[in-house]
Amino acid sequence: MFDSLYFQIISCIYIVLLAIVYFSKARINSVENKIYAYLIIVNIIGMAFDLASTYLAIVDISNPYLNIISKFYLVYIIAFMMLFSSYALMLSHKTDDEAENFKYFRRLSRKFFMFFVGISLISLALPLYNHNINGTVYTDGPSATFAYVISGICIFSWIVLIFKNRKKLLNKKAIPLLTIILLGIICIIIQSNMPGILLFTSLFIFATIVMYFTIENPDVKMIEQLEIAKNEADRANNAKTDFLSNMSHEIRTPLNAIIGFSQGLLEEDLSEESKNEVQDIIGASNSLLEIVNGILDISKIEANKLEIVNKEYNFEKIFKELVNLSHGRLGEKPLDFRYQYDHSIPPVLYGDYVRVKQIVLNLLTNAIKYTREGYVSFNVSSVIKDDICRLIISVEDSGIGIKEENIEKLFSKFERFDLEKNITIEGTGLGLAITKKLVELMNGKIVVQSKYGEGSKFTIAIDQRIIPKTLEELGLSENNKEFTDIFVAPNAKILVVDDNAINIKVAQRLLKSFEIIPETVMSGQECINKILDGKKYDLILLDDMMPKMTGTETLKNLKMIMGFETPVVALTANAISGMKEKYLEAGFNDYLSKPIDKNELETILRKFIEAEDIMEQELKDACNNIPQSDNIVSEVNVEELKDHDISILVNAGVDIDHSLELLGDMETINETFAAFLEESETRLPNIKNYKDVVDMPNYAILVHAMKSDSKYLGMMTLADLAYNHEMASKSNDVEYVNDHYDELMCEVNRMLEVIKQYLGR
Ligand code: ADP
Repeated sequence: MFDSLYFQIISCIYIVLLAIVYFSKARINSVENKIYAYLIIVNIIGMAFDLASTYLAIVDISNPYLNIISKFYLVYIIAFMMLFSSYALMLSHKTDDEAENFKYFRRLSRKFFMFFVGISLISLALPLYNHNINGTVYTDGPSATFAYVISGICIFSWIVLIFKNRKKLLNKKAIPLLTIILLGIICIIIQSNMPGILLFTSLFIFATIVMYFTIENPDVKMIEQLEIAKNEADRANNAKTDFLSNMSHEIRTPLNAIIGFSQGLLEEDLSEESKNEVQDIIGASNSLLEIVNGILDISKIEANKLEIVNKEYNFEKIFKELVNLSHGRLGEKPLDFRYQYDHSIPPVLYGDYVRVKQIVLNLLTNAIKYTREGYVSFNVSSVIKDDICRLIISVEDSGIGIKEENIEKLFSKFERFDLEKNITIEGTGLGLAITKKLVELMNGKIVVQSKYGEGSKFTIAIDQRIIPKTLEELGLSENNKEFTDIFVAPNAKILVVDDNAINIKVAQRLLKSFEIIPETVMSGQECINKILDGKKYDLILLDDMMPKMTGTETLKNLKMIMGFETPVVALTANAISGMKEKYLEAGFNDYLSKPIDKNELETILRKFIEAEDIMEQELKDACNNIPQSDNIVSEVNVEELKDHDISILVNAGVDIDHSLELLGDMETINETFAAFLEESETRLPNIKNYKDVVDMPNYAILVHAMKSDSKYLGMMTLADLAYNHEMASKSNDVEYVNDHYDELMCEVNRMLEVIKQYLGR
């Protein structure tokens, strides 16, 4: 009897220590932990009954409480067995979704609890006998037999469960169950030989201690710290993405001016040399645009913000465009460009053709870039199964090839190889990283085969859905036609709406190539007023990001005007994927991203404006009849402005060279200064007003416009101050705006005085 008391006291110390360690530590909220907490509590209660019954049996076997306490000890055994059974069942049903596990456990525990109450009541009701034979206490009778049978059934069910779910269960989590099964058998053998030693409680506690090491209980504090670190990293990453997308907007706006003016210049009567230089400017600007887009894409992909926008499209058209673009990129290179198209590809597919084109163009551009002589071959084949067309696109070259050790790193961003050899080849090391991510986003595959010094082959496989339509049904047959005819529309009535004077000038310049002189306004309200005044247009080009009323809001108001049916095309510097769809959804008829591409503008004009395919003579006549521009600065006498004293600007710190770089000539600069002066008359009171009523979004729009204009005009200090205000107001930092408002106003007023003096006003 005393022997078992020693076991009990030691077990008691263990379970109390375990309880202290377990409950004092932070735990994750999981079903396993819940069951384990119950197990510890049940063990402590059981231990108390065990100690009490042993003590009473030693002191006074006839004590009337002994029987009751012994019966409750049997209830403890049943409770322990059932908890372990629920643990075994839970393990065999466990999923990765903890909420799902909890749901299952709640359902299970409700049933088990009812079962436990029933069985415990039966066990309590059945008789139990305590005997003291030669100093050894025995407990027997139907109540004990019943409890042992229930325990036996539980153990048997665990064996069946473990066997049935051996793949899932035979891991370290099954150790406590196996421990009880094994030690239980040993216990029974010891107990049948030495009936005085009661080992069950110690066995249960031992199994509970073993289980402590098998339940998943990571360091919660560490998890919390990791969570904080992760949130911080996410925040920083989001800030980076926002910064990059803002920067891309910022870079695209001046690029708009550079490309636009350059394209405009090409229309002028320039010397061959100048034309070549202008072409170089356009080429370099387009490269810069590609880099900006690449950085924007990779940051979007990393922030999981890049969406795949599926649409019906014609792959053959994309193929032809890619072939044309590749021919363009080949330039003077003596390469044999071979291509092959599989005509069994259905005419109408469903997928993100913009991204498919981007992926293949990246591969083709690389093949051309990294091949000096030999060939580049572009092949498309397909495998059709049900309504899926698997496009297998390969781009092979006889170029410099890639070393084996570099193939693994090929798709990591900013990785470039063989720089000694490729020093003259432009690149950022972003193309393939974007390509791979895009292919993966479309659930496709990309494979590279390459031999250093001999060439490379990139193959991609992308599944696209087949749409059982013809090109005519899709309205695509029209688009297949190449623009071989000259498009001019001198009688077209177009309204350009943009709050930025320079953007308006660019649009005017581009439209001039099509002999179109647009009307221009600088706000949504003015646009609405024009329509309300009964003006009719063939097309409205409407900027979205405008103060007071955005382009989208303006469109909403326009649509409410009775009889308004003019097509409206959105203009925005936000070239993020999914934008086009957003604008179409908002009711725009199409979308043009800034910097406006002349070809894209032509596509839009051809789509919405009655083409006037004029014969040469008629064309000349039409040109002679072009009305004079009524652009935004027409009131200012340009001639008067030509010869102003630039030193006034230079002495005031205006970077006139920078302005000349962006705006081209003094005439344009002078016009823009005049526009800035006029604009400020309304802009400054509005900025103050938005600051006073704490309307940060509109404040941001106005200081953004002020910053853009200041940059164009070389007023760099003002541009920097306005930029700080733009960033602060975008992040709703009212305190910064208020604290630095006077500084901004002081600088803008100083500049206005300088401009007035310069313009002689
Ligand atoms: P980029 O061309 O802008 O440097 P990419 O991500 O497209 O960036 O390519 C990463 C690198 O992989 C390149 O710098 C080049 O070293 C190598 N590479 C890519 N395509 C080829 C190719 N077809 N042949 C040889 N090397 C290639």
